[in-house]
Amino acid sequence: VFLHSFMVNREHLCSNHPFATPQTIESIAHSALAEMRFEGRISFENLEFAARDFGNRYHLMPSAVLHPKSVSDISSILRYVYDLGLSSELKVAARGHGHSLEGQAQAYRGVVISMESLRAPEMSFHGGKHPYVDVSAGELWINILHESLKQGLTPRSWTDYLRLTVGGTLSNAGISGQAFRHGPQINNVHQLQVVTGRGEVVTCSDEQNTDLFHAVLGGLGQFGIITQARIALEPAPKMVKWIRALYSDFSTFARDQEHLISSNNSFDYVEGFIIINRTGLLNNWRSSFSPKDPIQADQFNSDGKLLFCLEVAKYYNPRESDNIDQDIDTLLSELSYIRSTLFLSEVSYVNFLDRVHVSEVKLREEGLWEVPHPWLNLLVPRSRIHEFVAEVFGNIVKDTSSGPVLIYPVNKARWKSGTSLITPDDDVFYLIAFLSSAMPSSTGKDGLKHILSQNKKILSFSQRPYLGIKQYLPHYSTEEEWEAHFGPHWEVFYRRKLSYDPLAILAPGQRIFRRGM
Ligand code: FAD
Repeated sequence: VFLHSFMVNREHLCSNHPFATPQTIESIAHSALAEMRFEGRISFENLEFAARDFGNRYHLMPSAVLHPKSVSDISSILRYVYDLGLSSELKVAARGHGHSLEGQAQAYRGVVISMESLRAPEMSFHGGKHPYVDVSAGELWINILHESLKQGLTPRSWTDYLRLTVGGTLSNAGISGQAFRHGPQINNVHQLQVVTGRGEVVTCSDEQNTDLFHAVLGGLGQFGIITQARIALEPAPKMVKWIRALYSDFSTFARDQEHLISSNNSFDYVEGFIIINRTGLLNNWRSSFSPKDPIQADQFNSDGKLLFCLEVAKYYNPRESDNIDQDIDTLLSELSYIRSTLFLSEVSYVNFLDRVHVSEVKLREEGLWEVPHPWLNLLVPRSRIHEFVAEVFGNIVKDTSSGPVLIYPVNKARWKSGTSLITPDDDVFYLIAFLSSAMPSSTGKDGLKHILSQNKKILSFSQRPYLGIKQYLPHYSTEEEWEAHFGPHWEVFYRRKLSYDPLAILAPGQRIFRRGM
């Protein structure tokens, strides 16, 4: 599969080019890459797509993009780069669907591996009491959903948006409204195949190569490239009752959300969001919903108010679930939302899970999808949530017109321990996601600058150590900040880096380690 990697290794470079500078070594490395044989292909032009991501703020041009067809394509290139040793600064980034926010899947003058071209293995389903599917890590979750449904099965834990790859979300966590019950996506994977920063292909799970398994889950791409994943499945429902209701008081809202996630006999999905001075397309929160009581709902004026919208969903199969409406009424009767603001929708399971795509289509039509997205995601301990909400929504954020602000609690007990993901210490913590879009402004106001300045204020408050708040999809510039993020877990993270990617070749866009360490 690869012809030249061993011929042009570090010793070869150094002995044949005793006066080689880093630049000449890079150019020799690149010509060697051009001569390597892959089952897929490597390209040195039309690379702009690999220097872009959803955040649309970082544009780091790589030198080459590998479109792998097999795991050995990936291990060949990593072995080759590893063998260059300390004489080279060449780095390698796996790129899933490129939906990072701050260049995390980019590699300046390095090699980007475009994981979506890795189609091996073909999706293969295994039934029985504990069904699962084996997939390529470059697979999009939307494709896994469609294929699983053909078997009457479905993954249990999701993200809100499904045009993301398995490798991309498992490198973070994969959190949505099912996580309170099933944990994030990293909890719902039985086994991985990983190519380490040394180019070794390793199968890992809770039973086999456990340290690597835990390292890679939530590992920000630092320890290896995930090439295959075995994902847990369960029987799929057909339909979903999807419900939204408003609160004007945060304490009542939070109490109800926490009540819902504490019970096994609850909704299947629990999320929520904050509405302040709603306007525009991004805040169209009730567009596909019908009010339970249209007359009263019409009289309710939400403009100008700080409101908290509970969003819940119950899955069901029409022929088997005779009591679904009664079950939902019982669950709702325990809650204290504003009675006139109950909104309902009935959709297929696919349409529910793929709901954000509907907004994507609308925003694309208006040329508003590929704008900068200065997102900020935080995990806030329950013990600090009231303080956080009072400060951030009392003093910093004055409207939510630049995009949704999600807020929902999850149970830490349902989350796997020992992975690389960093969460607050409390048993319950909240995900707060500021999903801002910097829209082109007709008033000439610099939307991006305003949102970044607001994010900075939120972060400056959130980083007070006593609050114990952690960033999700973290982004820092210095090693000190990363150390603070990992806290007591930094030593393990660092030790794992030395074990699996000792030359710090992988995922340079996360800006955690410098090559050569
Ligand atoms: P990329 O952006 O391509 O890569 C992300 C990181 O993972 C990079 O460092 C990359 O090098 C590394 N990586 C990629 N593939 C691999 C691999 N195979 N092996 C090892 N490392 C790899 N997240 C949630 O948890 N919940 C949500 O509800 C949610 N909603 C979102 C909605 C939208 C519209 C968007 C844009 C993002 C959302 N996210 C959400 C965040 C998303 O999970 C992450 O940004 C994720 O990394 C994107 O996946 P990707 O395939 O595009 O990864």
